[in-house]
Amino acid sequence: MSVSAADVDFNNLGFTYMNLPYRFRAYYKDGKWQNEGLTDDPDLHINEGSTILHYGQGVFEGLKAYRTKDGEVNLFRPEQNAKRMTHSCERLLMPEYPVDKFVDAVKQTVVANKDFVPPYGNGATLYLRPYMVGVGGNIGVHPAEEYIFSIFAMPVGNYFKGGLTPTAFITSEYDRAAHKGTGANKVGGNYAASLFPGQYAHENGYSDCIYLDPVSHRKVEEVGSANFFGITKDNVFLTPKSPSILPSVTKYSLLYLAKERLGLGTKEGDVFIDQFDQFKEAGACGTAAVISPIGSITNGDDKHVFYSETEVGPVTKKLYDTLTGIQFGNVEAPEGWIQKVEV
Ligand SMILES: *Cc1c(COP(=O)(O)O)cnc(C)c1O
Repeated sequence: MSVSAADVDFNNLGFTYMNLPYRFRAYYKDGKWQNEGLTDDPDLHINEGSTILHYGQGVFEGLKAYRTKDGEVNLFRPEQNAKRMTHSCERLLMPEYPVDKFVDAVKQTVVANKDFVPPYGNGATLYLRPYMVGVGGNIGVHPAEEYIFSIFAMPVGNYFKGGLTPTAFITSEYDRAAHKGTGANKVGGNYAASLFPGQYAHENGYSDCIYLDPVSHRKVEEVGSANFFGITKDNVFLTPKSPSILPSVTKYSLLYLAKERLGLGTKEGDVFIDQFDQFKEAGACGTAAVISPIGSITNGDDKHVFYSETEVGPVTKKLYDTLTGIQFGNVEAPEGWIQKVEV
């Protein structure tokens, strides 16, 4: 049974699965996408030999629908998620789901579950989770011939507990991805590799772990599900550049806003773990995390505190206000960043 909107407490949302009334689904068979549309069935019925089950042939995306003050519903750069999914699909030899159809499917999913787009005011949103998996009787190690593309939704609050309150992170001795592996693609296998170090971080009181570059272990790569950025003492928004980082839509949006709206310098480059002193503030950014200030990073015996362990820094706050202002429709968006959903 799906949940009813009347039973959802929109003021106390976490990041938890909810069985909403509808999800979009499409089937790839005989070389083409077919049977595309909404369904009320939350379960997939797939063959036991499916490549997703054995060889991890699956990709996903994450984006949000935002309720504005006027009750409208905004999507933030959904075509960026669509394009990134096509890159992930290419890497895993999966068929492309066309960008325009992806965006249309996102909109259909939002409209069908429109009562679950949280009211404007406390930052809650409707999270959308598109994914594609290889299915069918297929135990040999080769790409599947059949695929399912689907999008489900759920209302969410803050991803990291605390929202704009800084939290503590710890570097990991494990790698989530190799430089020529799949780190730059949103594939499930990267997350499977991150569960163990993530659990270690949580059990030791940290929000999450920070992965270092897999070659030298001297540079910051990213947080398991969010990109890293720091604000240097000379006002540069600096974020790591590496082939094994997932190219975050939020990160690239912040790079633009830091320069165009806040007048900061911007740079994608190396962030050495023994040079945290160059930063006055640091944060993690992603669709789910939005911007989560980093209070401290523990690396071995060293603990580096950034702006403060309890208060968000002014630049991070300004970036947060600008980004969320655009997403919720209160700040003028750069051309093409917002798409309205006709609900
Ligand atoms: C999805 C994801 C991010 C954030 O990307 P956004 O496009 O900003 O949501 C960062 N790192 C990893 C590993 C991710 O999977």
